[in-house]
Amino acid sequence: MGELEKIYQTLYSYYGDLRWWPADTPFEVMVGAVLTQNTTWNNVEKTLKQFDGNISPERILDLSIEEVQEIIRPTGFYRQKSQYLKAVTEWFLSYDCDIDLIKKRPLLDIRFELLQVRGIGNETADSILLYAFEFPTFVVDAYTMRLFRRFPINAGKTYMEVKNYCEEELPQDTELYNHFHALIVHNGKEHCKKKMDCTGCPLEVFCKKILS
Ligand code: SF4
Repeated sequence: MGELEKIYQTLYSYYGDLRWWPADTPFEVMVGAVLTQNTTWNNVEKTLKQFDGNISPERILDLSIEEVQEIIRPTGFYRQKSQYLKAVTEWFLSYDCDIDLIKKRPLLDIRFELLQVRGIGNETADSILLYAFEFPTFVVDAYTMRLFRRFPINAGKTYMEVKNYCEEELPQDTELYNHFHALIVHNGKEHCKKKMDCTGCPLEVFCKKILS
C-alpha cells in the first residue's frame, strides 16, 4: 500500500464517513464552495441560513447585487463574492441547471469551463466538480498542503503538482476523493492545526511531524 493510501485508510478507520459536502442540493454546494473562499465554514453556515431555505439559481439571479451582498456579508469579501455567485449561477443556468447534462461532459472540458468563470480558481472548481457533480477530481487545500509538508509527502509545491501527484498515486475514484478531502480537513481542524496538536492524532505513528 502506498503512503497516501495508508494515510487515507488510517483516517477513514478512525473517523469513518464524514458525509461531505454538507449541503442539500448540488447548487448549494456551488454556493458554499464560493462563499468558503478565505473564510471559515462556520461563517458560511451562518450565511447559508440567511437565505431562509431558498438557495436556488433563479433566486440568486433575481436578487440585485446589493441584496446578495447584504445576505452574504458574514463571509467577508462580500462585494467580490456577490459577483462570483452571479457568475457561477449564470454558468449553471447555461446548462439549464441540468446536472445530468453537465455529468455527460468530459471532466477536463467542464473543469476548463469552470476556471473561466469569474472568481473560480482550482480549489473552488474541484470542490464543485467533486461534491456537486461527482467527478473524480482531487481537491487540494491549505490543510492538504500542511499535512503533506509535515508528514512529509513530497507531492510538489503548486496546486496542480499536488493534485496530479495524488491522482497518480490513488485509484481514480470519486468516493475515495470525496472522503479523503473531508478527512484531511477534519483532521486538520482537530489535530494538524497551524500549531500542530499531535497527541491523539490517528496519523501520529507514521508521521515525521516536520516543523513548518
Ligand atoms: S501527527 Fe502531528 S503533524 Fe502529523 S498529521 Fe498528526 S497533527 Fe499533523
